[in-house]
Amino acid sequence: MNQILRTRVLAVLAAAGLLAAPMSALAGGELYLLSNSPPHWVTSQFPVGYNLNPGTASGNIDGVDAPGQFIDAVTSAFQSWENVGTAAITFQRNADTALLLDQNATDGVNLVVFNSVAVVQGIPIPLPAGVLGVTNSYFDFSNGLISGGAITLNTDPLPDHANPDYSTSGANGTLDIEAIVLHEAGHYIGMCHRRYATTWAVNSSASRRTPP
Ligand SMILES: [Zn+2]
Repeated sequence: MNQILRTRVLAVLAAAGLLAAPMSALAGGELYLLSNSPPHWVTSQFPVGYNLNPGTASGNIDGVDAPGQFIDAVTSAFQSWENVGTAAITFQRNADTALLLDQNATDGVNLVVFNSVAVVQGIPIPLPAGVLGVTNSYFDFSNGLISGGAITLNTDPLPDHANPDYSTSGANGTLDIEAIVLHEAGHYIGMCHRRYATTWAVNSSASRRTPP
């Protein structure tokens, strides 16, 4: 069966516009697991790999070593999920890549990148202002098994703020990149926002969702 038909895309945007808290706060709010065949990686896939494009951090993260800060922040975010006491999942940073778009869901490359567009169901979609990032998780909706994913951080989520919009310092008026990736990594392992959970659980005919 065609991959597009067999899988669904969990495409979740973290929207800055939803934040009432300061810009350095967590993005996107609380995450929940679906109760009915939730998307998930299985233990035979552990450690779950991800591939960074560190070069894209330049100009997007404030600091003297944006690529290095990006690597540290992403690694730390994934580590935080591993550190959850009840979590079995493990992650591994695989080879860095120069890819800007993750066009192939099942090639083993799970991209973490800054870009102004993200691939959703094979189509590059521009990320609008106010959106911090988007995470795609490709999974078989008959059993929830995830086959791949990608995290894209919007290069200009705050058009009224001079770039770079992100930092690792918690500086006032900047977006904390580790906090955002921490949230997106939750989507990467199959979690979603509660208000969409019921919809996902009952609507198996949908092939694509792009909630805020
Ligand atoms: Zn989210």
